[in-house]
Amino acid sequence: MMTSRRRFLGSAAALAAAAPLSCGSPGGRPAPQDAPGPRPWINHDLHTHTVHSDGAHSIALHVFEARAFELEAIAITDHYTPGSRIAASEEDFNRYLDEIERERSAQNDLIVLKGAEAAALDTAGRITLDERHAAKLEWVLCDLSGGSEGIFRNTPRDKARYAENVVRAYLALCDVPYLNGIAHPFNTGNTNPPALPEDYPPALLRELAAKMAARGKVFDVMNDTIYWFQKSGISPRALTAQYVELVKVFAAAGVLFQVSSDDHRTGLGNTRWSQLVLSRAGVPPRQIVDPSSIKRHPGR
Ligand SMILES: [Zn+2]
Repeated sequence: MMTSRRRFLGSAAALAAAAPLSCGSPGGRPAPQDAPGPRPWINHDLHTHTVHSDGAHSIALHVFEARAFELEAIAITDHYTPGSRIAASEEDFNRYLDEIERERSAQNDLIVLKGAEAAALDTAGRITLDERHAAKLEWVLCDLSGGSEGIFRNTPRDKARYAENVVRAYLALCDVPYLNGIAHPFNTGNTNPPALPEDYPPALLRELAAKMAARGKVFDVMNDTIYWFQKSGISPRALTAQYVELVKVFAAAGVLFQVSSDDHRTGLGNTRWSQLVLSRAGVPPRQIVDPSSIKRHPGR
């Protein structure tokens, strides 16, 4: 506890957040433990959607808003899945890339990454995005989806088997060389049966954590993770506590983390819960992705 607390004290924002609990606000209410500091601890949002998939805003408005919020970096990661707009044709994909290029080069406030969110098709590492298209992108995430066989599709009735399938799928994703990160890992609470963070066997988690660290696959701590547990019966705070324990396992193995809003409507830059989880898990700043180090390629 003390160790993680001390590590947490490594950033200026954390110092502000760690103000003594006794100096509460008038009326004797203690200051909240995770009160935001003057600047956010992590200032990126590396998983967001626009009208090029199921998001609400144009790329132009997205970039405009992120500049207003004074974010350091965003990744635009529209869905690249069968039936999605950017996967419909080569022209649609290129139009997407061109629009991101145009909007990001028209300003200097913000790093904007050309990204996509692919989906796992099975537990063997097959995904919806191929290497040729990935080569034109700078930030590629992959999540589980309705098409993930043995996971969200034909979910095993046996919870242990289900949890094992999920971890096997993630282990296989580590072998996809053009994948940068796993989007909101363990978002398995809305299935029947649900798999909660505590349902994953620690030995399997450690195996996955070691492989993600070795292959440099980033763990996306997505702000709206509770969305994926609304049917599970777990209380929001219990989910947070369980997710913190999960993150600790990956942090101990040296995995890198990013934060994101997974914005579809109005949440761009909202990573408060993500940062709360990373702080509570004692993840040090050196294990947070540095967007300025991500290679960008102009044009297509
Ligand atoms: Zn997403």
